[in-house]
Amino acid sequence: MLVRVGNALTPTAVEPFWRSGLGDDVIIMKKLLCAVMLAALVQPLAAQQRQTRNVIIVTLDGLRWQELFTGVDSALVHDIRYTPLQTGVKDEFWTTSPTERRRKLMPFFWDSLAPTGVVLGDRNAGSLVDITNVHRFSYPGYSEILAGFADDERIKSNNKVPNPNVTVLEFLNQQPGLRGKVAAFTSWDVFPHIINEERSGVLVNAASEPLPDAGALLNRLQLQLPNPWNGVRHDALTHQFALEYLRKQRPRVLYIGFDETDDFAHERKYGTYIRAARRTDDMVRELWQWVQSTEGYRNATTLILTTDHGRGHGEAFSNHSREVDGAQHIWIAMFGPDLRAVTNQNAAGQFYQNQIARTVASLLGFNYDIDPRIGAELMVGRP
Ligand SMILES: [Zn+2]
Repeated sequence: MLVRVGNALTPTAVEPFWRSGLGDDVIIMKKLLCAVMLAALVQPLAAQQRQTRNVIIVTLDGLRWQELFTGVDSALVHDIRYTPLQTGVKDEFWTTSPTERRRKLMPFFWDSLAPTGVVLGDRNAGSLVDITNVHRFSYPGYSEILAGFADDERIKSNNKVPNPNVTVLEFLNQQPGLRGKVAAFTSWDVFPHIINEERSGVLVNAASEPLPDAGALLNRLQLQLPNPWNGVRHDALTHQFALEYLRKQRPRVLYIGFDETDDFAHERKYGTYIRAARRTDDMVRELWQWVQSTEGYRNATTLILTTDHGRGHGEAFSNHSREVDGAQHIWIAMFGPDLRAVTNQNAAGQFYQNQIARTVASLLGFNYDIDPRIGAELMVGRP
């Protein structure tokens, strides 16, 4: 017999019928009664202890751990080939102290979020986060984040192929109370395939898709603004579409996929990549301030930030692939009512991209164990 204790399934002392002696009906009944009473006692407690009612996952495509933890890279910010002086990036973001630099780059993240939760991936402090897929590019990374495992043989390109694997978004969309309450907003138009919108039934608003909930102005701007990349919209639009949907439809599980950091890095525009990271930090601020000022979300929402892959070191920052060393290194940050602030020391260890999906489900009270390859739950910062 299995009784649900918190987020784990724990075997109880009750033996199955076939192991009990013949005629032991009374003992069996007593044991069953105990188990039922125990279950009744345990379940409401577990629900009371877990305060997460909603989860928001935000990804910043290919934002390196180096920038997150140490701010702008001295090898790149002083090189006018990557950071032309007129970008103003050197003046605004450079200082000799790495902790000051990271606060200049992502002030909301470091001043308001980090002191409250879990930030993993500072390799200088012994906190290692890696992807487990061999490819080191986007579709395999997002699939690993959302499905909870690498599938190197089948997920090996960025082509618009429907994901054969179920993601945690699809799994949650099938759970009682969550059906129709799971949605995704992404800048990149491959996400409807990664999340397999057609099979999963999860609303995926990607690239220049219109959305009635977003209102006429945003929908018109989306069509009228210049679009610098094929199949990618500006992150500001993705962000505002997601916010409008949050306000009007009140999803319980929301995924937001930003993309500009990766696009500018591929163009070898380090200064512009830095500006994109700074803007994204401000979008996260706007999102989190809405969450924390809104009934039903305040102190009931867990926010998870991460990235699909890393990038090369130094001048190789523009690239990521299986040949690029460093592109396997990522970071994960988690904040919410069920997470305690952890120090550098407690964030030390080895963690993996494939652990995010199970953690998301567990925070909502579900056991995401539909595939044996799914990574273990992240327990850092949990009581
Ligand atoms: Zn990517």
